[in-house]
Amino acid sequence: MRDPQRIAARMDHITASGIRKVFDLGAHLKDPIDLSIGMPHFDVPQPIKDEAIAAIQRGQNRYTPTQGIDPLRQAVSQACRREFGWTDERSIMITSGVAGALTLAIFATVDPGDEVIVTDPHFVMYSYITRMAGGVPVAVDTYDDFRPDVQRIADAVTDKTRLIVINSPCNPTGCVYSEAELRGIAEIAERHGLLVLSDEIYDLFCYDEPYPSMASICENTVLMRGFSKSFGMPGWRMGWCAGPEAIIDRMKTLQQWTFVCAPSMAQAAGVIAMTTDMSETIAAYKVKRDMVADALCDRLGWVKQGGAFYAFVPAPGGDATEFVKRAIANNVLIIPGSVFSAKDTHFRISFACDDAKLQQGLEIMVKLADEF
Ligand code: PLP
Repeated sequence: MRDPQRIAARMDHITASGIRKVFDLGAHLKDPIDLSIGMPHFDVPQPIKDEAIAAIQRGQNRYTPTQGIDPLRQAVSQACRREFGWTDERSIMITSGVAGALTLAIFATVDPGDEVIVTDPHFVMYSYITRMAGGVPVAVDTYDDFRPDVQRIADAVTDKTRLIVINSPCNPTGCVYSEAELRGIAEIAERHGLLVLSDEIYDLFCYDEPYPSMASICENTVLMRGFSKSFGMPGWRMGWCAGPEAIIDRMKTLQQWTFVCAPSMAQAAGVIAMTTDMSETIAAYKVKRDMVADALCDRLGWVKQGGAFYAFVPAPGGDATEFVKRAIANNVLIIPGSVFSAKDTHFRISFACDDAKLQQGLEIMVKLADEF
């Protein structure tokens, strides 16, 4: 007898997000200090909201072209020309978040058995999508400074390697890769004929130096950027990617038969987002990053990082799950490193919350650390 509720074997490769599990552990808390959330604490800027509402009222509620509406693709193209000096016409497409871009890129390029190089730790979606596509994630250790070791990446390349996925500024570590590191990775990709996926969803959240992008260094890069973090709109499901025409073309075909298009009213509002100045918000996030550094560098041995809105901190006592349990028992939600890594020696704080809550959470963690 066939089981009508049988689940496909590919689903064995993925489990529910470990971050959800922390939510569940903290579900009974009345007013937790939530430093677990991977999204900005600010709301969408008003002009962007207004344009989304106006687009709905104007009737922009139908399917859009698969690759996205022209005004938004043009706005992205201009931004790329300004930032990277691109004079050639790289293909650009609008996706349902960077998650959508990652799904399309990996499914369009990875054959069963192909290897995909990621860092350890990494944003888990990379390895989950790779496995669903039949590929094999190969994690390159970046502990303890979380910088990409170019030699280790070179050593991880085999005949089966297809992609190198990089994420700078990085979730969960906050590390911003230097131009020299990106050049080293680009050189490996070029030497072995590999494609680079550059997930730059945190590009605006870069606090100390100008942000170097792989897109200006390595031609065979699919650049992915998003609106979720930059403009506080993760629920709108908006992202974009740009890269070699042969790859983006196939990603478009796949989008046609899966997501169809990114949400129409969000695309209309995305045109306004592309010229919205977020510098004040980013300055406020730099202050938060510095608050974390003041509290945790000396006391918990965190090495200050330059980007994203996360700190990946050594767990007092060395066992992150144990420390996270104690933090949750003290009303603070944080994420154990094992959610992102083969190791469970660090925990992730998101500092995307208001300053008062952040300060409270940091004080509790420092106090707890003394007990380990
Ligand atoms: N890439 C990274 C590194 C992320 O941290 C996230 C969200 O947490 C995503 C991609 C997915 O973002 P989006 O909302 O654009 O799909």
